[in-house]
Amino acid sequence: MNFTGRTWRPPYEASSFIIQAASGCTYNKCRFCSLYKGECYRMSPLSEWEEDLQELSLYHPNARRIFWTGANPFAMSYENLKARALSVYDYLKECQTMAMFASIRDIKPKKVKQLRTLRSLGINGLSIGTESGDDYTLCLADKGYTAKDIIDQCRKLDEAGIEYYFVYMTGLAGKGNGYQNAVNSAKVFSKVNPRFISVDSLTLFEDTELLEMAERGEFVPAGEKERIEELQVFIQNLRLKVHLFADSISNFYPVTAYLPRDKELVIGELQNIMDTVSEEEMLAYRRNLKALG
Ligand code: SF4
Repeated sequence: MNFTGRTWRPPYEASSFIIQAASGCTYNKCRFCSLYKGECYRMSPLSEWEEDLQELSLYHPNARRIFWTGANPFAMSYENLKARALSVYDYLKECQTMAMFASIRDIKPKKVKQLRTLRSLGINGLSIGTESGDDYTLCLADKGYTAKDIIDQCRKLDEAGIEYYFVYMTGLAGKGNGYQNAVNSAKVFSKVNPRFISVDSLTLFEDTELLEMAERGEFVPAGEKERIEELQVFIQNLRLKVHLFADSISNFYPVTAYLPRDKELVIGELQNIMDTVSEEEMLAYRRNLKALG
């Protein structure tokens, strides 16, 4: 199999078969991210793609869900995505789902009719690193889209029947701004239909603009307890039936919940952690994080 770039997949795609559709990120500007720094975006040539499909079919001829790697293969044109999806069935006859990372920016140029066709060809399960739904925070992180874009583009996915998953990042708004970020993000996320929301917490890694801003005093990181409070506010304000997974390594205390059913339970659990663990202990945990996962 050809894996030329940094290969990254979400934890919930662990049982999907992975194949490289692209490498690197078309955008590479989010201020907290260094994942694909120094890597150029490259679409796998169709010949290489088919070679990989053939190899995959030798070992897993009955693969039903595959995950196309690359930071955002969904940036490819409609025609390119369609051609690749069609070629999958030449090798994997049982394939039902082709999932991948996508950005709000990648959905914009595609019409609902085109999205419907992609859905009918098996493209489904887009992991979208929204991080926030608050305009101040989106701008601070330089995500390259607004809250309105999230609503407009995800409504197109809803119309086309494409399932998608969101990410929310606590601490991204900086000290004192978490409450506003949580309220506004919950409001925006509740206007569309993510199947689930993963929660990460900001960690300032080397080679990120946000770390440089923090060193210059232009960005003040939120405290650890402030982030947990932010998560409580986010959960409190969500008006969605949704699974929430705040259990990645960047969360000091892992929680998962089905909302709204578990709302009070999980908010209470987070409160208990805040009441019994010191800020210093939480900070020491974050200082020891070397990577996102
Ligand atoms: S967060 Fe995603 S879109 Fe932003 S630079 Fe990193 S990989 Fe690219």
